[in-house]
Amino acid sequence: MARKAATPTPPPLAWSSTFHLSPSPPPASLTGDKLLLPQAALENLLEAASQSATTTTTSHDPASWDYVSPHEALSRRNEARQQLPHPLTFRVTNLVTGRVAYAGIREFSAEEGQVVLSTFLREGLALPTITQQRQGEGDAELLEARIKVEAVNVPKGTFARLRPLDAGYEEDWKPILENHLQKNFTTLAVNNILAIPRLSHQPGKDFKFLIDRVKPEGAEAICIVDTDLEVDIEPLNEEQAKESLRQRELRKKAESSSGGQINIDGPKEGTISDGNVVRFNLKTWDRSKPISINVPEENVDILVSTDTIQGYPRLEEWTWARFDGSKPIVILPDDPVIISAKEVRISLRVYEQSLIDSNSKKPMPLPTKFLLSITQTIHRNDNEDEEMADANADSEICSNCKRSIPKRSMMLHQNFCFRNNILCPHGCGQVFKRGTETDHWHCTECKAFGLNTPDRSTYDKHMDVAHTSRRCTSCDYSAGSLSELATHKTTICPNKLILCRFCHLVVPQEEDTNFTAAITGLAPHETGCGGRTTNCHICERIVQLKNMEVHLKNHDLERKSQPLPRVCRNVNCARTTADNNLGLCSVCFGPLYSSAYDPTGQALARRVELRYLTQLLKGCGKSWCTNEMCKTGRANRKPPLPTIPSKEATALVKPLVTKEGLRGGYTSHPLHFCVDETISKRKHLAEMLSFTEDSQGRNGWAIEWCIKAVEVVALEAADELETMNKAREWLEKFAVKRDE
Ligand SMILES: [Zn+2]
Ligand SMILES: [Zn+2]
Ligand SMILES: [Zn+2]
Ligand SMILES: [Zn+2]
Ligand SMILES: [Zn+2]
Ligand SMILES: [Zn+2]
Ligand SMILES: [Zn+2]
Ligand SMILES: [Zn+2]
Repeated sequence: MARKAATPTPPPLAWSSTFHLSPSPPPASLTGDKLLLPQAALENLLEAASQSATTTTTSHDPASWDYVSPHEALSRRNEARQQLPHPLTFRVTNLVTGRVAYAGIREFSAEEGQVVLSTFLREGLALPTITQQRQGEGDAELLEARIKVEAVNVPKGTFARLRPLDAGYEEDWKPILENHLQKNFTTLAVNNILAIPRLSHQPGKDFKFLIDRVKPEGAEAICIVDTDLEVDIEPLNEEQAKESLRQRELRKKAESSSGGQINIDGPKEGTISDGNVVRFNLKTWDRSKPISINVPEENVDILVSTDTIQGYPRLEEWTWARFDGSKPIVILPDDPVIISAKEVRISLRVYEQSLIDSNSKKPMPLPTKFLLSITQTIHRNDNEDEEMADANADSEICSNCKRSIPKRSMMLHQNFCFRNNILCPHGCGQVFKRGTETDHWHCTECKAFGLNTPDRSTYDKHMDVAHTSRRCTSCDYSAGSLSELATHKTTICPNKLILCRFCHLVVPQEEDTNFTAAITGLAPHETGCGGRTTNCHICERIVQLKNMEVHLKNHDLERKSQPLPRVCRNVNCARTTADNNLGLCSVCFGPLYSSAYDPTGQALARRVELRYLTQLLKGCGKSWCTNEMCKTGRANRKPPLPTIPSKEATALVKPLVTKEGLRGGYTSHPLHFCVDETISKRKHLAEMLSFTEDSQGRNGWAIEWCIKAVEVVALEAADELETMNKAREWLEKFAVKRDE
């Protein structure tokens, strides 16, 4: 279908990198198996190309015949662009699900750190589809997705057999199909499904082909650029086509098993298909008891983490896990990770054969059913107790099979037992019918054992999980086992993602070079990030972000230890007091002041009495006055209060001006003097404030604090609304609430 390949196979490029998936859907121009990588990836690829082009011939000894001067090396690097293999082909791995696809590159125009994948690649990697994304689904998966892209040499293909999966295939489509492949695809991978819109009779739908076989034989994928590819289209019979579609639908359904919130003693059923993960979260549990998480299905792996890692647990990122299908996971209540956790997150997955043998081409297994249950009740094993009781009474333990046997029949039993049963000589404690003991395996490196299945898969899985070294995908740490790697990735790996408490971004935690993380409780990134300074919103002083919490706590302590402000004892007034015998502000006290000698206070009492009587009988004449001890004020009230006749007025005032009445407290014995218009308004605002709640919906502030707040902000505020708002702000920052 194209020119004959003229160039020999280029040397392999050693380049791979891990990317986030671009949050925006792929552009319409990104068709076929194409992806977009960032500019930096091109730089690194060129670097890698120049390495592989020069390493074999470079010497650093100027006397050597193959010495390459730095200048020469640079120009060779510039030539590397021409030396980049054409076409570039990549293996793309979804690190969350382990799914693999093959891809070619469209251009280097993605955002730094991100990869953009075509719809075809997204589907191949079991990522949420564009439609799901538009409907707002799968956001978490998209955010969590980590895509590993590695440059690989894919052999040039000579042959591909496609099988139409929809009815109505027509022979003359072959040229259209070939044209479509040539325009949109760099690679073809076995078992992938091609969806070609132009061939469908129904607009908006795709016509599907399964890539059934390729040559060179045994290749997982082939490159179809610059090759003479022979395309063979072999229709399936109707039955086969239907069956293959049905299988596909089944898998799709299984993929939709959605997980979600789970409760203690509220088991959940579901299905997982190969390569998929079902995720659950547990939000409330009894923190004094152990949590037991179980799935009876032995081939379902359980991965558990808490909110100390971002997202849900993944194959290489978990705190607790079960891979051998044996027992539930039990998390003890004093485990430090669970103590600080707000949420327990569980991922269920089916162990993938592909991890053991990436070339195995077994058909996709059917979805696995599971039943996940979380309990906190501790079951005592009653049977065990019974057996123990038996043993104590009339029975003994058979030295061969370790079962409890009645004493009187022991002879008989052992006669039989030694002939027929064998206790595993390797010490795993299991008893087998003689001759079948070879049906189980023991790990030579640890105490694990298990039953042999025809393909020894449990043994292979044990070796893979427990004794295969793995490299961290994001730093150069190398772990001896999956659990070591998981511990690394969820604790000290510099690239572990954290939600920074200072910049509020999800960022790598960085390397703990000074070993301060354990002491400060701050991730290394946070130590740096928290070293930035800002102005305290209360005292305006410059404070480091990481000290802000303590700084604000001090403000809070200071604030709460303040006494209630002393305010003017005149109920109509809204000023904080000056010191005088009556507890009035200087303005209210002014008219009552006299420099005359008055040791008993009688002259003062007389002046207060006079002022009251003047108010009650003559009135202050001010339009704003609402003082109930003033003739004008009484008339201004709505509804108006009747005028008080002079006799009654004298009687009313008398008790107010006794020694006791004058010395009394603000609330028990208030004074009632007329005030000016400004103060009258302030008092009104302060009263309104004292009836409102604070920002936390609690009881708000006492009138004394409200009076102080209005007094402090009144001069800077343009109108009443602004006064109210500023006073509230001031109260939140500086005042003590009623219930604090
Ligand atoms: Zn026995
Ligand atoms: Zn054994
Ligand atoms: Zn082992
Ligand atoms: Zn690491
Ligand atoms: Zn930060
Ligand atoms: Zn401060
Ligand atoms: Zn006053
Ligand atoms: Zn008045």
